[in-house]
Amino acid sequence: MSERNNAPPEQLDLYCIRHTAAHILAQAVTELYPEAKLAIGPPIENGFYYDFDLGVDAAGNRRAFKPDDLPQLEKRVRQIIAGNHALVYRELSVAEAQHLFQNQPYKLELIAELAQAGEVISTYRQDSFEDLCRGPHAAHTGQIAPDAVRLMSIAGAYWRGDKSQPMLQRIYGTAWHNKQELRQHLQLLEEARQRDHRKLGRDLEIFIIDEEIGPGLPLWLPNGHILREELEKLAREMEDAAGYARVSTPHIAKEALYRRSGHLPYYEDEMYAPMNREGATYYLRPMNCPFHHKIFASKPRSYRDLPLRLSEYGTVYRYEQSGSLFGLLRVRGQTQNDAHIYCAESQLASEFIAVMDLYRRYFDLFGIKKYVMRLSKHSRAGLGKKYVDDEPMWLKMEALIRQVMLSEHIPFVEAADEAAFYGPKIDVQVWSAIGREFSLATNQVDFVQPPRFDLTFTNQHGNPETPLCIHRAPLGSHERFIGFLIEHYAGHFPVWLAPEQVRVIPITDAHQAYAAQLAAHLRQAGIRAQAMMSSERMSAKVRQAQHMKVPYMVIVGDQEMAEETISVRERHDRQQSGVSLAAFIEHVRQVIDGREPEL
Ligand SMILES: [Zn+2]
Ligand SMILES: [Zn+2]
Repeated sequence: MSERNNAPPEQLDLYCIRHTAAHILAQAVTELYPEAKLAIGPPIENGFYYDFDLGVDAAGNRRAFKPDDLPQLEKRVRQIIAGNHALVYRELSVAEAQHLFQNQPYKLELIAELAQAGEVISTYRQDSFEDLCRGPHAAHTGQIAPDAVRLMSIAGAYWRGDKSQPMLQRIYGTAWHNKQELRQHLQLLEEARQRDHRKLGRDLEIFIIDEEIGPGLPLWLPNGHILREELEKLAREMEDAAGYARVSTPHIAKEALYRRSGHLPYYEDEMYAPMNREGATYYLRPMNCPFHHKIFASKPRSYRDLPLRLSEYGTVYRYEQSGSLFGLLRVRGQTQNDAHIYCAESQLASEFIAVMDLYRRYFDLFGIKKYVMRLSKHSRAGLGKKYVDDEPMWLKMEALIRQVMLSEHIPFVEAADEAAFYGPKIDVQVWSAIGREFSLATNQVDFVQPPRFDLTFTNQHGNPETPLCIHRAPLGSHERFIGFLIEHYAGHFPVWLAPEQVRVIPITDAHQAYAAQLAAHLRQAGIRAQAMMSSERMSAKVRQAQHMKVPYMVIVGDQEMAEETISVRERHDRQQSGVSLAAFIEHVRQVIDGREPEL
């Protein structure tokens, strides 16, 4: 036992505190549920969990914890802590361990594995409870502050994450050095809950998911649609300036197309089941690429046409497993900021760099400072299964991307077995303000699909040559990017994105006509504005506008009407009265047109 483990809670490792708390929870559960079978209970980030098998009831249903059970268990956990029991370590032979845990099938499975690996089998005991464990732990339970431990929630979990195994009951807890740290943690959780895009998406009327339409298929409400349109307008401007041509293509196509592209069979698991009509088989598209390849192939191309950059905000459908669906983050239908760049091999590096530059311009605009770029590579084991079987080409393209990233001084990490089936890529991961990870953007090199589609261009020497293709989506999909932005801004969108930019609030009913007239002027100036015509008290109207996080409130009463001015109240409470409407419009237009991050 290390010296540190005799320390008071302030100096004790959180790992030891949480690990010990997990054992104490297991003791509490075995006392209250003597039939419980114990699985595992590790410390995790911010806390710990323990998995239990509570068996089946008389009717044959699996027993589960109820939320009401947590307070009782938590009370017992505190009592055990207060008992100030030592944690006693011992090592056992395989036979001793098997005897000790004879009624614990999950522990027996672990013991068999430890024995096979030739590892030491050890336990820790506190009070009357002994658990299979290699430590480390606190020296005694009294080293944990009883008011810094909280049981948080119950979830189902499979033994070893294996769906063929019975569903276990997992109890999550959190444990800290002291009560203050626990309180801070709970505050952060509450803030995260307030920023969660699923909650804000509903509160701000951005999107809903209707079970009758289907899980993972969001409905965009008028406010959400504005966000989509503003992002699409931004992308269109950036892509126009960068020499892209926009196209539109259908959401379904015949099977033969996907056989040729390789989506069948390489991507089949993620695709919706086929539809049969008049002897032909159709699929919803999981990607836009094959459609753009057909446009490339629609006429003879020469080197003078290259690079050819075809872009589309294209809608695709992917069958995500029910368990992995999550708000806007994992959906079954999404609209991607997609483009395919066809170029000669000699142009690949400069085109790739231009795409990375575009990424960085977007990230600056949205104030995304923390991101990681990952070079996602093939794996040798996956060749012929997940990845097209041409290792020399994989290595060549991976080396090329690595070289581009190094020459541009762009920091990146590398990961094997994360590529697309047709080539390596750069994936960009970002974190929203509440620490949620989003895989946002992607920049991919494809050496597989162009030859499969017989794409060629006539080179300078008059000979046919196969182009390479870059697949890129800097803003990912609308779904994921807007989900990210909601959390990133906590719903306080910059003015250019805000679904409602100005709300005009009449102080009393007598000022309604003037308010309506002002809102009409604002709308004519291209500003999204509405007047609030309810006869509620003004403070209630202000609260509602604040709840919807409208950037500007324009308040009008007798004085404003007499002077033909307005009073402006900004989202963060800065106020100004006696403002002329013309001056206000000019200011707001500047903020919008400049896509200013702040008001
Ligand atoms: Zn342990
Ligand atoms: Zn593509």
